[in-house]
Amino acid sequence: MIQSKMIEKMEDLFCSLNHKLPVLMISCDKDLKNNQRLLCSLCMENLESKTQIMSFKKTLENIEQNQQSKKESVENVLMINIKQLEQLQKTLHQLKSNVVQQLDYMIGNANEWIKQIWICGQSNVTYSLFDEIEKLITQTKLDQFNQQSIIDQINQISQSQNQKFITLFIINIQMPCNLII
Ligand SMILES: [Zn+2]
Repeated sequence: MIQSKMIEKMEDLFCSLNHKLPVLMISCDKDLKNNQRLLCSLCMENLESKTQIMSFKKTLENIEQNQQSKKESVENVLMINIKQLEQLQKTLHQLKSNVVQQLDYMIGNANEWIKQIWICGQSNVTYSLFDEIEKLITQTKLDQFNQQSIIDQINQISQSQNQKFITLFIINIQMPCNLII
C-alpha cells in the first residue's frame, strides 16, 4: 500500500519571521514564497489590511482531502496492473506444475524407450538350439551378427518414440508456453 506523504514536517512550519508561534493564516500574496506566506498571530497584527488571507487549518484540510483522493486514484491504477500481474503469476505457477508433470511423464517415456531397446537387443541374442543345429547342417554356417539389422530395428523403435516425444512436447510444453508469451 502507498501513503500520502507531505515532504515538509508539520512541526517545522513557522512563519518566516521566526516568531515560533502556531501558524494561523496563509497570505495569498503571489510574490511571496514558501514560509513567507505563513502567518502567526504576531504577523497578523502587522499585516497590511489589503492582504488577502485564508485559514491555515482549512487550507491544510483542503489539500489533504485532495491528496487523499489523488492517492485513491493512483491506487486504483496500480491495482489494475498488479491484479493482471498476479493473474500472470497464477498462470505461470499452473504452467510450471503442468510442465514438471509433463517432463516427469516424458522421462518415464524415455525409460520405456530404453526398455524397448534392451528387449530388442535381447531378442537378437535369443536363439533356439534346434534351429542353430538345423542351420549348421543345412547352411554349414552359424548365425552371424548383422549390425545393419539391429540398427534398423532400433531406428524403427526410435522413429515411433521420437514422434510421440515431439507431439507430447509441442502439445504439453511448447503450446502452453506460447499462449503466455
Ligand atoms: Zn509570525
